[in-house]
Amino acid sequence: MNEFKNFINGKWVSSSKTFENRNPVDNSLIGLVHEAGREDVDAAVKAARAALRGSWAQLKVEERVDLLHAIVDGINQRFDDFLAAEVADTGKPHVLAGHLDIPRGAANFKVFADLIRNVPNETFSTETHDNGRALNYAVRVPRGVIGVVCPWNLPLLLMTWKVGPALACGNTVVVKPSEDTPATATLLGEVMNKVGVPAGVYNVVHGFGPDSAGQFLTEHPLVDGITFTGETVTGEAIMKAAAKGVRPVSFELGGKNPGIVFADADFDKAVAGIARSTFENTGQVCLGTERVYVQRPIFERFVAALKQRAEAFKLGRPQDPGVNFGPLISLQHREKVLGYYKMAKAEGAVVVTGGGVPAMPEPMNVGAWIQPTIWTGLPENSPVIREEIFGPCCHIAPFDTEEEVIRLANSTPYGLAATVWTQDLGVAHRMGAALDVGLCWINSWFLRDLRTSFGGAKQSGIGREGGVHSLEFYTELRNVCIKL
Ligand code: NAD
Repeated sequence: MNEFKNFINGKWVSSSKTFENRNPVDNSLIGLVHEAGREDVDAAVKAARAALRGSWAQLKVEERVDLLHAIVDGINQRFDDFLAAEVADTGKPHVLAGHLDIPRGAANFKVFADLIRNVPNETFSTETHDNGRALNYAVRVPRGVIGVVCPWNLPLLLMTWKVGPALACGNTVVVKPSEDTPATATLLGEVMNKVGVPAGVYNVVHGFGPDSAGQFLTEHPLVDGITFTGETVTGEAIMKAAAKGVRPVSFELGGKNPGIVFADADFDKAVAGIARSTFENTGQVCLGTERVYVQRPIFERFVAALKQRAEAFKLGRPQDPGVNFGPLISLQHREKVLGYYKMAKAEGAVVVTGGGVPAMPEPMNVGAWIQPTIWTGLPENSPVIREEIFGPCCHIAPFDTEEEVIRLANSTPYGLAATVWTQDLGVAHRMGAALDVGLCWINSWFLRDLRTSFGGAKQSGIGREGGVHSLEFYTELRNVCIKL
């Protein structure tokens, strides 16, 4: 039986309280997770604090950078272990986790190691009242102990997206992985020890949100900043916890992202792009498309082509050849998604394809499987179109003009991402300027250069991470002024 223990000050810490971790493919038991109590979280935060001022602070930047590169190598050396752990926790196809989750998990350390070695510094030469001069320069210091609270959809990728820059900037971290995906954060502890990252720099506490490790961590007064990826309502709760002590937050939250297809788009590429943005990772990608707007002349043809794509997915065990569609993360999440499937029908949607649970052979018949689903015909004020479902589904509506689609696209409280398909450069640039989102892809989706900014507008987030933008959260700027 696997056991996922807390990783505190370089050591594995058991708890008297455990909870089950199940594989969503067939609901089989993966192992037991040791739930951190308030005192475990306290020990982890104090270990992080000690390392912050001690062993970690004593390293030269070059030594820190070398360690980050060693973490990259350490993940790559155990690539198959990380892959197996991520796939067991999430049920996602091998082909997806092997191409996306694990390589990006490693790359997130490399990109920030390289960045921190080359980060530019601001200086000003200033004229003073007495006709003298002063030199101003900025010093970047680590923010401190960072609380990292993570979701389950891209566990290693999204966790290291925060741990990478945090460590590169000289902070120490306490990570609270999702209760549904404890494995890869735990495995990373083994890598940290193996490559010689000092004890206390990277800590993991397992558990849930309210009245559990998530709340204990975010409320802890010795946590200097909280970076969180997850639902907007959870962000609100964490923001309240962070208000005590006026601690800064960096939030990557939910979305209800539009996919916009103009009639002049390269049709096949647009269909393939929207199929990917809607259904990849079984629709459990924050950047994914759940609202599709297609210009009227190609509407019917587009709906038919996307239907064909949705029906071509191969569901099955993650390791089986050709499988490109996994289950949802859990039976509990499937209940939520199926609630929207039912609501769509009740509101009179045309179910173009899917809409329920597929028939799977034993033992997968008790897994969290769900059909890729497409609807048309719902009014724009339907909760199915306004609320984040986080499943493999989209509603497709026709539009006529650019102005109309901009209004529709901007009409939810979210503002994470958009994908636009057109061959008209003018339209592309105008959409880039008009859509209220943090990330706007034209003729592409999820095309990431890790040096660029990442984050959401409106209720989809606070702040930007990625490249130098991560420095804004993971460091404090100190200005030093020297009268010459
Ligand atoms: P969630 O908000 O339910 O949980 C995320 C994490 O927060 C978990 O570790 C959970 O235990 C913890 N948590 C819950 N309540 C808490 C509390 N009161 N205090 C402290 N911690 C608490 O999100 P999820 O279901 O794991 O992930 C799906 C959501 O994440 C979706 O809304 C999705 O859009 C969002 N997401 C956003 C991005 C982005 O970059 N914007 C990326 C991935 C996922």
